[in-house]
Amino acid sequence: MIESRPCKTALSRSTLPGLVYSFNPYWGCMHGCLYCYVPDVMRNIMPDLKWGRDVFVKDKVLEILRAEVKKKAPGVVGVSTATDPYQPAERELEITRRALIILSSAGFPVSIQTKSPLVTRDIDLMIGKKFDVGFTITSTDKEFQMKFEPGAPPPEERISALETISSVGINTWIFYGPIIPGYNDSPEEMERIVRLGAKTKSKIIYDRLNIKPTVLQRLKIVMNQEEISRRGSFREQFARLEALCREYSVRCEFAFP
Ligand code: SF4
Repeated sequence: MIESRPCKTALSRSTLPGLVYSFNPYWGCMHGCLYCYVPDVMRNIMPDLKWGRDVFVKDKVLEILRAEVKKKAPGVVGVSTATDPYQPAERELEITRRALIILSSAGFPVSIQTKSPLVTRDIDLMIGKKFDVGFTITSTDKEFQMKFEPGAPPPEERISALETISSVGINTWIFYGPIIPGYNDSPEEMERIVRLGAKTKSKIIYDRLNIKPTVLQRLKIVMNQEEISRRGSFREQFARLEALCREYSVRCEFAFP
């Protein structure tokens, strides 16, 4: 269901590493990843929003953004931190595309994070400008995607889009997270992701599984309680990933140091 809801602001101050602001064109995300913890934040703000099913477009968000960039000091804008800016609704609505034009024209550097190859549509806006693009690649395995990210594009499409964007000289990075032990942390899987980082000159940002109450509820669809409670230790996976990154000369860092 896509509908429109009024909004008061477009740019929010961000405390995430490397960002000054965040811009989220939509509430909700059709990608519906089971490990996503945004629904946990949204459940009190917008209790009627069904994660993975509903998308609420922020009414007049572009007019509000146009006014805000005139008043705020330029700083890196994360697009997006609480939704995927290139989820299916964006193909027709083009809110993200128009927001990128506004931000870039006003001198705001933009850091995009997505799972969708639709981002390649907007390469024309990015070449030679202050943009970087991060792809969330949790796994190269389609079965993992179908299980944990049922509405998101398959890994091969993300990989191909990452290669395209990197090949035209736009800075790229890979978000490898959450790492779910037993599902996307095999030595072979890790090496494929690190090799992709080396091939596309992408830094790898990795993250652990954060089990918030709504995440737990949703994970129970595909994992049993015992499996979920065993997912607490990440030291071994992180050490292995960092060693591989050193071997392939790929920069890597933990998402939330
Ligand atoms: S793509 Fe990102 S915002 Fe959307 S459901 Fe998945 S993790 Fe959440």
